[in-house]
Amino acid sequence: MTTAAQAEAKVFPPSAETVARAHVDAEKYTQMYEASVNDPVKFWGEHGKRIDWIKPYTQVKDVNYDFGSVKINWYADGTLNVSANCLDRHLKTRGDQTAIIWEPDDPNDEAQHITYAELHRRTCRMANILESMGVRKGDRVVIYLPMIPEAAYAMLACARIGAIHSIVFAGFSPDALAARVNGCDAKVIITADEAPRGGRKTPLKSNADAALLHCKDTVKCLVVKRTGGQTTWIDGRDYDYNEMALEADDYCAPAEMNAEDPLFILYTSGSTGQPKGVVHTTGGYLVYAAMTHEITFDYHDGDIYWCTADVGWVTGHSYIVYGPLANGATTLMFEGVPTYPDASRFWQVCEKHKVNQFYTAPTAIRALMGQGNEFVEKCDLSSLKTLGTVGEPINPEAWNWYNDVVGKGKCPIVDTWWQTETGGHMMTPLPGAHATKPGSAMKPFFGVQPVVLDPQSGVEITGNGVEGVLCIKDSWPGQMRTVWGDHERFEKTYFSDYKGYYFTGDGCRRDEDGDYWITGRVDDVINVSGHRMGTAEVESALVAHAAVAEAAVVGYPHEIKGQGIYCYVTLMNDREPSDELLKELRTWVRTEIGPIASPDVIQWAPGLPKTRSGKIMRRILRKIAENDFGSLGDTSTLADPSVVEDLIANRANK
Ligand code: ATP
Ligand code: MG
Repeated sequence: MTTAAQAEAKVFPPSAETVARAHVDAEKYTQMYEASVNDPVKFWGEHGKRIDWIKPYTQVKDVNYDFGSVKINWYADGTLNVSANCLDRHLKTRGDQTAIIWEPDDPNDEAQHITYAELHRRTCRMANILESMGVRKGDRVVIYLPMIPEAAYAMLACARIGAIHSIVFAGFSPDALAARVNGCDAKVIITADEAPRGGRKTPLKSNADAALLHCKDTVKCLVVKRTGGQTTWIDGRDYDYNEMALEADDYCAPAEMNAEDPLFILYTSGSTGQPKGVVHTTGGYLVYAAMTHEITFDYHDGDIYWCTADVGWVTGHSYIVYGPLANGATTLMFEGVPTYPDASRFWQVCEKHKVNQFYTAPTAIRALMGQGNEFVEKCDLSSLKTLGTVGEPINPEAWNWYNDVVGKGKCPIVDTWWQTETGGHMMTPLPGAHATKPGSAMKPFFGVQPVVLDPQSGVEITGNGVEGVLCIKDSWPGQMRTVWGDHERFEKTYFSDYKGYYFTGDGCRRDEDGDYWITGRVDDVINVSGHRMGTAEVESALVAHAAVAEAAVVGYPHEIKGQGIYCYVTLMNDREPSDELLKELRTWVRTEIGPIASPDVIQWAPGLPKTRSGKIMRRILRKIAENDFGSLGDTSTLADPSVVEDLIANRANK
């Protein structure tokens, strides 16, 4: 087995084949990157033309990062329609091409292939239905749907008439749904009867009914039939989508939107605090989502592209729907989970639809790695060209497994660092331009100027082989514009700690080669007897042990050391907790990193508290480690709240 440190030292240059095929090679990257930071107005002025404008822009960039007067505008005098860019402009050239491949939860049910022409008709019908329900330009619509094609119709329909959508994960509770409906004063909730996932059904409409008890009684509910599962019905409030779609007109004219009109609101996953209503606008967002989709994944016409995220996460917005469809791509939408009916589902879907680009999260990779290689090896994955990951730092052990077992060493891995706030990829290797290193996000995307700051003084640390907090020096078109209804919170969260920069909240290291490594949240840095270390480093070491499937590490107050190291460890399926194993893991971490990183507490955790997008909620783990169970904060975005009770009940008593 390789240790974390050995794995990190490896560098994987792209193959000649990958370089030859790529949109961007090393030379082109350097030339374009320099152009993008030396003259952003010229660069983005040119690349803005990749989408269609109704009225072309004459202004490109108007940005102020000064705390107290933060303003971010791109293409501000241009007008366009996002749904026309994703649909109408492709009709002539690719009306019969598949836009969306839909793969249902149950592999025995048939997949659907929806062409651009069909997607256009469906979207128009949905847009007409929404208009008939009274939705107008600027109104908010909450989408609470499973991963079904109607989720894409709903997003595009809102964009078509200029309504602002706010998607809520289908796994969220009625309380979380109600809070989001009220938070943006939505006129309509679009939901379905039930959401099948992993063979189980979530009663979405019943959840919506429960949520609506806490909303204004003018809020209407549009219900899509997915399973036909029985639902209660309130006439005048509930609308039957399937029935209305039979009558609705196949055409709806796209509204002319200003580039800075909001396209959507999306609440962040809340892994660090109360979820924020992130606002993205129309023009800059689409330019950035489309360009990153094409270049990061090296997407080419005719490729089949699959992002396994849910549309309730920003990744689903930018990289299932808006980016791919703006590019005229074929994008796969998957309703299910990676382990149903068994751990080969992802790979079977890749084989079945001959997927070329595959994009998932480290949490899924680790879970599947823990199940064994035979689930991968029995599938034909020869169509794969690019593999992607997003959501968390990926530990080298999982990276190597992804590279060797899934990619057979021939697919570049794009480790994409970005945030709900950034709209699209910020740092990632590009397939034909950069070598990769297990766990490194490598290089900034065009127009992105990362800086490493000293956390105390806020001064920029130059040179290589340095570490600090990660900020961004200047704006890019995909940047969020405000927090819905609370511009002050926007400025305070992102522009007040380090004046003149966008503060990401993440820590990072720029290695000797000038490549970037995200070390986790800044508040995930712990200080043990004066030594600062990222919790991700300890987690990575733990996961490198054969018995460990997953680990989460937090700091807790320690009388002598200042902070102690508290580890939550999930073991592989076939391993049992024991005192010996506990000792072994301590020794393991000491040898992997050094005595300073020796865990003070190891708690066996059958499960870890995660957001629906698979992120570990360390703020909850910190509270448990601190024995402070009274103030766990907002847990409404947890995938499985019962995990928390178990951890509290079994909190290591040390
Ligand atoms: P909240 O801001 O409400 O706490 P969140 O930050 O978890 O929620 P997202 O916007 O989905 O919600 O997550 C962005 C964060 O995820 C980044 O700031 C970073 O910490 C982490 N992240 C995403 N991709 C990567 C990656 N490739 N490598 C390392 N970390 C990543
Ligand atoms: Mg965040």
